[in-house]
Amino acid sequence: MSDKVLEERKQSSPECFEHRQQTAAWKCNQCSLFISSQCRPNHDSHQVEQVENMLQNSRQKIVKSVQCLQLSTMVAGILALDDQTKRIRKETELAKEIVNNRKKKLIRKIEQEVKTLNETLDSDTESSGRPVES
Ligand SMILES: [Zn+2]
Ligand SMILES: [Zn+2]
Repeated sequence: MSDKVLEERKQSSPECFEHRQQTAAWKCNQCSLFISSQCRPNHDSHQVEQVENMLQNSRQKIVKSVQCLQLSTMVAGILALDDQTKRIRKETELAKEIVNNRKKKLIRKIEQEVKTLNETLDSDTESSGRPVES
């Protein structure tokens, strides 16, 4: 084991609540106290946990939560991108629809004008009794 890991371990390991100079190897869950091996027999009937395991577990939990966070950030990014794609698609559809509507309206207007023109011509023909030729 390297010095760095040892140093880290010293820093992250809690001390015994009674023997401050000693590193607590155990945690009594019943008393909520960190205890050294020396104090261990006093908590024999209590539920104790090995600090080593606890640290290991919490380290794993941290790694897991970081991975979870990274994953959720990634998923959020994908979702945001998906949202954006959907929005752009929707906007494109909307723009197409507007153009189509305008086209339809224009065609309808032209058709209407042609119809009106024809009707005017027809009524002119009818009123004069004979086709207008010039
Ligand atoms: Zn205890
Ligand atoms: Zn102790």
